[in-house]
Amino acid sequence: DRSQQPTDRAYRVVLAGDAAVGKSSFLLRLCKNEFIDNTKATLGVDFQMKTLVVDGEPTVLQLWDTAGQERFRSIAKSYFRRADGVLLLYDVTCERSFLNVREWVDMIEDVSQDDIPIMLVGNKCDLRPEAIQDGITCIPTSYGEKLAMTYSALFCETSAKDGSNIIEAVLHLAREVTKHT
Ligand code: GDP
Repeated sequence: DRSQQPTDRAYRVVLAGDAAVGKSSFLLRLCKNEFIDNTKATLGVDFQMKTLVVDGEPTVLQLWDTAGQERFRSIAKSYFRRADGVLLLYDVTCERSFLNVREWVDMIEDVSQDDIPIMLVGNKCDLRPEAIQDGITCIPTSYGEKLAMTYSALFCETSAKDGSNIIEAVLHLAREVTKHT
């Protein structure tokens, strides 16, 4: 019943994924529409706020970055415990980050209250054509789609560099999160 939902509620969305897949860059693009190349982006804050109009309703998202804390599992876990939704990123030009998605999903499912919506995001898709030419093993779109399906997750490919699909990814997840909570 929509009328019973508090209107000032901020939904908590946590960014997950291996180091260097582009979590900080994703947030920077989403919240400030900027991109910094070859910089270890340290935003210096735990989260960013972003208001989106979801199905006609202004919806406030509190986006948590787990930057630099990939190795500190207990800290990461405390983020996921109270999450309403997860953006789980991998780098389409880094096979290892794709193979590690499973571990992230296991951890998220382990600590979160119930089946929270997950958006699987293949980031850095701007780099793929060049990487393939350089002989680097890249993750095709269909692999990402299939993996997402096995986890009943949403899926999209993005580029924090050129901005493609960033808003779409977040909107799609937000729609699912507001339906779910
Ligand atoms: P994090 O550790 O997951 O937060 O990753 P960062 O946001 O720090 O990004 C790691 C590196 O990848 C930085 O040098 C970024 O500039 C770069 N990067 C992030 N996203 C993209 C992208 O979509 N395309 C390209 N070409 N580079 C990206």
